[in-house]
Amino acid sequence: ESATLGRTVWAEIDLAALEANVRTLRERASGSEFMAVVKADAYGHGLLPVARAALRAGATWLGVAQLPEAVALRDAGITARLLTWLSVPGTDFAAAVARDIDLSASAPWVLDEIAAAARSLGRTARVHLKVDTGLGRGGAYGQDWTTLVRHARPLEAEGAVQVVGIWTHFAHADSPEHPTVLAQQERFFEAVAEAERAGCRPEVRHLANSAATLVHPSAHADLVRPGIAMYGLTPVPQLDDDFGLRPVMTLRARLALVKGLPAGQGVSYGHAYVPATDTVVGLVPAGYADGVPRDATNVGPLLVDGRRTTIAGRVCMDQFVVDLGAGSGASAGDVVTLFGGAPGEPTAQDWADATGTISYEIVTRLGARVPRLHL
Ligand code: PLP
Repeated sequence: ESATLGRTVWAEIDLAALEANVRTLRERASGSEFMAVVKADAYGHGLLPVARAALRAGATWLGVAQLPEAVALRDAGITARLLTWLSVPGTDFAAAVARDIDLSASAPWVLDEIAAAARSLGRTARVHLKVDTGLGRGGAYGQDWTTLVRHARPLEAEGAVQVVGIWTHFAHADSPEHPTVLAQQERFFEAVAEAERAGCRPEVRHLANSAATLVHPSAHADLVRPGIAMYGLTPVPQLDDDFGLRPVMTLRARLALVKGLPAGQGVSYGHAYVPATDTVVGLVPAGYADGVPRDATNVGPLLVDGRRTTIAGRVCMDQFVVDLGAGSGASAGDVVTLFGGAPGEPTAQDWADATGTISYEIVTRLGARVPRLHL
């Protein structure tokens, strides 16, 4: 219906491609369960449609960073296992326990707050203990792991919590040869063994993100947790291999204006682009409020009328200009492809390369006002 309102910029989300990617990844890790990572609005692709498509393609778990994302999934009727992993003191853990949402704990206070919530409901909370095996981010590091495991055991004995998972996250999975990958894996299995000696009986041990799912089979363990690869973007762009993945998001807009400008007339704020010859420019109604990086001044790439072109001058909040060249036959209303996945189309990875970031940021930063059209 937004077509009738004059849709300016939109993202097409190819759910068939997403399902194909899930199946491709599942074949790579056929002995493991599959947690589809759908945090941050499914990396900008739309939480619920993506979650449902991933489950159709055989995912058995969904993973999110924040509790409200997990609550949104459960309250939409999704019955799959859900894990959420970032919480602060005072989090409403009862809301999670009441909805059978699995929780991660990296420190004793988290276990205490989860246990209190479980007692108040007369239920047992399902917990995944997180070990920091060398990412230096979440998880219990070094001796703190022993402390965390010792803290969990009496809460398990009491029935307030059950340790159903032990997990960690890699620092360098995207550099297949990096020595920390094996070191983290070894440390992980030591930490699991220590917890099992102490009496924990986890159902799932898990550590593999997309990169590890694709290139480190020894890290698959009981469950893999791919994010970016599900969306059809490679986690290892330095490798000349697309792993058979298909990009899921295509970002398009329609030209709002086409006009001539004379040589020497600076374009957009600050006149960061000045055409050397008389030219024709097009106005693309998408800006940094929509997620187009402001750093993309004078870069791109994008496709207008089947022709690759670049941004001319500064990206503004709602719009930017492209230099179509003298003699361009483009007109207002023509479709502009910022990135996509069809042959010849620029990719989110091209945008990442052009602006010094990673494809994850290009898709995740898409603005809230950009309609996601699930195809
Ligand atoms: N597991 C955890 C804990 C994460 O934070 C993420 C995302 O950053 C993933 C898995 C998925 O990672 P990727 O998108 O690289 O597959």
